[in-house]
Amino acid sequence: MKLYSTNLKADEVNFKTALIKGLAPDKGLYLPKELPHFSEEELNSMKNETYPEIAFRVLSRILEGEIDEDSLREITHDVYNYDVPLEKVDDITYIMRLDQGPTASFKDFAARMMARLMQYYLKQEDKSMVILTATSGDTGSAVAHAFYGLDNIKVIVLFPKDEVSDRQRKQMTTLDRNVSALAMDGKFDDCQALVKQAFADDELKHLNLSSANSINIGRLIPQTVYYFYAYVKLMKYPEEIIFSIPSGNFGNMMGCVLAKNMGVPIKKILASVNENDEVPIFLKTGKYTKIEPSRNCLSNAMNVGHPSNLARLIAVYGGVMDEKGNVIKLPDMEKLNNDILSVSVTDGETKATIKKFFEDYNICIEPHGAVGIKGLMDYREKTGDNTLAVTLETAHPAKFPAEVITATGVDPEPPQSLKDVEAKEEFMEQLNADYATFKKYLKEKLE
Ligand SMILES: *Cc1c(COP(=O)(O)O)cnc(C)c1O
Repeated sequence: MKLYSTNLKADEVNFKTALIKGLAPDKGLYLPKELPHFSEEELNSMKNETYPEIAFRVLSRILEGEIDEDSLREITHDVYNYDVPLEKVDDITYIMRLDQGPTASFKDFAARMMARLMQYYLKQEDKSMVILTATSGDTGSAVAHAFYGLDNIKVIVLFPKDEVSDRQRKQMTTLDRNVSALAMDGKFDDCQALVKQAFADDELKHLNLSSANSINIGRLIPQTVYYFYAYVKLMKYPEEIIFSIPSGNFGNMMGCVLAKNMGVPIKKILASVNENDEVPIFLKTGKYTKIEPSRNCLSNAMNVGHPSNLARLIAVYGGVMDEKGNVIKLPDMEKLNNDILSVSVTDGETKATIKKFFEDYNICIEPHGAVGIKGLMDYREKTGDNTLAVTLETAHPAKFPAEVITATGVDPEPPQSLKDVEAKEEFMEQLNADYATFKKYLKEKLE
């Protein structure tokens, strides 16, 4: 497996190097140069397999020669030890619930796999690493859980102490062992700035700091698997399917683009966004303008004004976008618009969709999932296309109780993973959000 940088100015690398490095030296994002192709027989042969086995089949082809098969099979069966329900809404609509992992967010799928792959390669070289991550809620808890208890890897999570919910905080502070939680006296942007400064600090180079953030190719590749899974469970080759994906940084959607390029017959990818509509505008006009600062919407994990994976999407369609968001070369817009439709959904529409879905189908969804569903409904209304569609629910409704109660009158029952956290002891340190204090903490903690 060879990976290239979307800026086209760095050497090609193998998977292990791309995984450990994260960002390419030319500040581009890594993408596989070639992908395996799955034949009709291969797809059909997965029909009766479990999720972890399908993950093994898909990933072992993508990572051929990069990891031994026994280790990969063991990892997929360890990390995917929870259900992936395909809930039927009507004859042409299913909801794929990606909310059954330890932090009840779809980010568990990628973070857990990436953590184990990193550990696999670090052990081979007898090296260790420190993951430093700033979070406004969801990513930090998924990453902290994913690395929890692993050898050779320490995790430090910074969060703004007044900006995360009790439930979000507890998911980060009840772990301990190799995970340290820092409640920062500041805002999310302050946390992120401290982390960036630490990465750029030569005096901390020896600590082997890494970010594990959403631009890492190790986060993207596991996100191809559930598209194979939904397809083989619901369809028979060569029937076509539609996926509807609520999007922010567009990592989830890139997983779908790669699955399509590996042979899954995907007719259309619907990548709906909230009121941060820079991508729908780009697809329509070919002109790209970031939204700074991003707009605050109910689906807060999708409040992204400049999606980090857009450079990858543009690269797959033959264009180039640099790390600042300038489009250096336009992609094939016709092909892009043929494969992908991105619409913007307002907060009002998001609330109305949660309410309508509950009333019509007695199904409870949360704001992110609702954006995906609204995008699908609009698409069907406009085109009359009744191809079977799977829409993704990316978080558990109990993570957004206020919005769900307002729309439906019902308080969603938390899954066991969220309940377990309630009673656990919290471990955290409070820190001022200034760099000198933070650096001192890192040196004392890690040297
Ligand atoms: C991160 C996140 C998203 C957006 O996913 P991207 O890959 O960034 O597009 C959607 N829903 C939830 C609940 C999330 O946490």
